[in-house]
Amino acid sequence: MSGGDKLDFEIRPNPAPVSAADRAALLANPGFGRVFTDHMVTVRYADGKGWYDARVEARAPIPMDPASAVLHYAQEIFEGLKAYRTADGGVTMFRPDANAARFVDSARRMAMPALPPEVFVDSLHKLIEIDREWIPEGEDGSLYLRPFMFASEVFLGVRPASEYLYMVIASPVGAYFSGGVKPVTVWVSPDYTRAAPGGTGAAKCGGNYATSLAAQAEAIDAGCDQVVFLDAVERRFVDELGGMNVFFVYDDDSVVTPPLTGTILPGITRDAIITLAGKAGQRVEERPVSFADWQADAASGRLREVFACGTAAVITPIGGVRFPDGEFLIGGGEPGRVTMSLRQQLVDIQRGKAADPHGWVRQVL
Ligand SMILES: *Cc1c(COP(=O)(O)O)cnc(C)c1O
Repeated sequence: MSGGDKLDFEIRPNPAPVSAADRAALLANPGFGRVFTDHMVTVRYADGKGWYDARVEARAPIPMDPASAVLHYAQEIFEGLKAYRTADGGVTMFRPDANAARFVDSARRMAMPALPPEVFVDSLHKLIEIDREWIPEGEDGSLYLRPFMFASEVFLGVRPASEYLYMVIASPVGAYFSGGVKPVTVWVSPDYTRAAPGGTGAAKCGGNYATSLAAQAEAIDAGCDQVVFLDAVERRFVDELGGMNVFFVYDDDSVVTPPLTGTILPGITRDAIITLAGKAGQRVEERPVSFADWQADAASGRLREVFACGTAAVITPIGGVRFPDGEFLIGGGEPGRVTMSLRQQLVDIQRGKAADPHGWVRQVL
């Protein structure tokens, strides 16, 4: 790349965008990850050349050689964040710089080139600008942004690829919980782990999800919504869900979440919750929680609430826990007071309805 960390995007508007009427019909009930906007971002990378050919163009299938490295050795990483319409007609994002920084960290772990954070954030601005009509109106909707990068070199050797494609696509999404926040039941997997020390648990890579799917299927078979993974070494301590971090709330309103020891994805929602709870005067601890303590503290009543968190659902209360030998409820299976308060505080900041003392909200338009 020439000229430091700046890259000029060539804008090629879609010559045949979805009509306003069809778009309105799609936005009426977009669901999650089913509807996509008219455009996408593409930026290429080659060793010796750097980042080049930055474009915003019509969303379309991408031609791929069957020997593209990603199809064989899974060098792929991604991000997920949302753009919101605000009451004054503006558009914002929540902490895109944190996603940009994590994208660099994920790239390092997967032996991929680091996309300059400025280019990452700029690419989101460009896509939102051209597809702004796709951001749902109203309280609950948002435009989910999916930046990702993969090894595009045509080569079957086992080494880091020398060519990559960075892309961003966008998907309008509705309320994650239609009809109010509903607690989920989680399955504690006896068979599968998600990430081992020294592995890729802290990188946001597609491979982590591929290995979680059998466990997630086991959870569904057991009548649960999501899987909880225990640590890979002792199978004692709670790591996280397939795609969400986890928090425990005790009877003194203190909150505990597992520490970032390399096997857990460092969630941006997780980080925001730690900040918000601390500011509210709650004791916040990052320390391991064993499944045995989880059960015992739920039984004694000391543990009042448990919730999962991530960009897609913000905060999801966990009402029930199932494992091969039994099951138990948390807080009678109802959403807890602290959980719902933290959720509201976060959503209000994201939606521009509350002050943003931490500078998390970025104005786009
Ligand atoms: C993305 C992700 C999270 C949540 O991260 P946020 O930045 O809060 O969206 C949690 N766990 C896993 C495994 C993830 O991939």
